Amino acid sequence: MASETNETREKSLNFLEEIIEESIAGGETRIQTRFPPEPNGYLHIGHATSICLNFGLATEYQGKCNLRFDDTNPSKEDVEYIDSIQQDIQWLGFQWEGEPHFASDYFQQLYDWAEKLILEGKAYVDDQPAEVISAQRMTPTEPGVNSPYRDRTPEENLDLFRRMKNGEFQAGEKVLRAKIDMASSNMLMRDPIMYRIMHVPHHRTGDKWCIYPMYDFTHGQSDYLEGITQSICTLEFEVHRPLYNWFLDQLIDTEYRPRQIEFARRNLSYTVMSKRRLLELVQKGIVAGWDDPRMPTITGLRRAGYTPESIRNFAEKVGVARREIVVDMALLEFCVREHLNKIAPRVMAVLDPVRVVIDNYPEGQTETVEIENNPEDETAGTRMVPFSRELYIERDDFMENAPKKFFRMTPGNEVRLKGAYIVKCESVEKDAEGNITTIHCTYDVDTRSGTGSASNRKVKGTLHWVSAPDAIEAEVRLYDRLFKDPDPAGHKDIDFKEFLNENSLKVLTGCKLEPSLKEAKEGDRFQFQRLGYFCVDKDSKPGALVFNRTVGLKDTWAKQNN
Ligand code: ATP
Ligand code: MG
Repeated sequence: MASETNETREKSLNFLEEIIEESIAGGETRIQTRFPPEPNGYLHIGHATSICLNFGLATEYQGKCNLRFDDTNPSKEDVEYIDSIQQDIQWLGFQWEGEPHFASDYFQQLYDWAEKLILEGKAYVDDQPAEVISAQRMTPTEPGVNSPYRDRTPEENLDLFRRMKNGEFQAGEKVLRAKIDMASSNMLMRDPIMYRIMHVPHHRTGDKWCIYPMYDFTHGQSDYLEGITQSICTLEFEVHRPLYNWFLDQLIDTEYRPRQIEFARRNLSYTVMSKRRLLELVQKGIVAGWDDPRMPTITGLRRAGYTPESIRNFAEKVGVARREIVVDMALLEFCVREHLNKIAPRVMAVLDPVRVVIDNYPEGQTETVEIENNPEDETAGTRMVPFSRELYIERDDFMENAPKKFFRMTPGNEVRLKGAYIVKCESVEKDAEGNITTIHCTYDVDTRSGTGSASNRKVKGTLHWVSAPDAIEAEVRLYDRLFKDPDPAGHKDIDFKEFLNENSLKVLTGCKLEPSLKEAKEGDRFQFQRLGYFCVDKDSKPGALVFNRTVGLKDTWAKQNN
């Protein structure tokens, strides 16, 4: 029996867990992972899956997970990104081991290692421009051409490298290259660049350096210096692995090496994930910022009303694999809908209001009706909602000449007002253009919900409503997918911006909300009954709430496409 349980457990392991369990079985006593972002943009949902993976594995195997900023390119980096990345990871519910690490903490060590390679004849200064160096690498099927500077002596190289460091040359005048193999079938081994000149101050090291190590000369050694055991990265780094190993083999005598394991990126349909494109959307003002609720960024999802739980659950469902996949946006929406259904209090909000007067309800009278806060959560309790002679309902919940299957309000038919009475439309008032301005109803006083026999009378429709004198007004932003194409960046010769969904934001003002929402605060999440999930936006001011729609109650995109 015991072996059966083991088998079941083994089957459910993903390939990374299998590798880790093998190494534990082989005597590995500690697990140390890391999440290594470049601080050149905000984190997105793809990063979130990598965060969940690295921090999740560390937790699962009682290990540790570092946060390391791979900050080797000061021209693209910004402290704004460093701050946002930390916030986003913590919001997702993870905490890195100790202080955050920075590749720039290792600049001196990397420099010393570069000198060591030079002295051993394994690195040289090249005076050629980048284009020439690149052309000389040739193609994978023909050997590359040696640089005329390849055979400089260690002394000459050391002198030139130190002068590079001391600022004697302009950017592009010289680079330091590793002397590996210009005929290697792996193009990255054809004397890769280790250092370039950049007269750009660094957000952490200031003006100390004007040469910066390349990512490839930094990443593997940083993992080594931090004692990383599983260096998990995306597939494009598979070809870099021999190079990382080559550097470590030249520099390190001990046996310990970080083990690099690659997995495939997770992409999401109906959006773009490259930081370059996301930055373009921000810079061109196509979205309101990195935290625009339509962005696939973590900060955007948070502002839209996503919960950390829903994103972690999404990552779990997506899993890890060696094959690149595009995950349907509908899965992410499903995850947030599923979680909010459990936790979001139900309230009534009328987004496109039309006035209803109950003519036989005593003028000046108000009463309160008791409505449950969340049928999915027994502990959520109930609240009292004011009811009066004048109400608002959704304009599209009324139809003057309705088809048979229309079970909402029509002249002469009864509907229930949620938690209150059964009412019947008697007549309508219209303005000069024929728009309905007021719906006149009568109510049946014996049908108040929860009060005896007549209260149970069955009617086909139940509508949400808000008492007019008690309503608070709000702005509601209806967000939809930013792109109308499942793969906006995947079209040859067509710019991804051509596929923007022009209806991705609809702003509604003058929406009417039940008064219990008066105290709602930024980030609070609700289900507006019959409409969807909504979250209080940061643009809210006292007395002027703004809500974002997180997601509708149903997957309307699936309907459209079927
Ligand atoms: P860049 O082009 O700037 O390198 P990047 O998306 O690789 O962009 P990083 O900051 O290098 O961004 O990413 C940090 C970590 O997140 C890396 O380990 C990377 O492999 C992982 N990652 C990035 N995008 C995805 C994705 N779509 N799915 C899974 N993991 C991802
Ligand atoms: Mg990267």
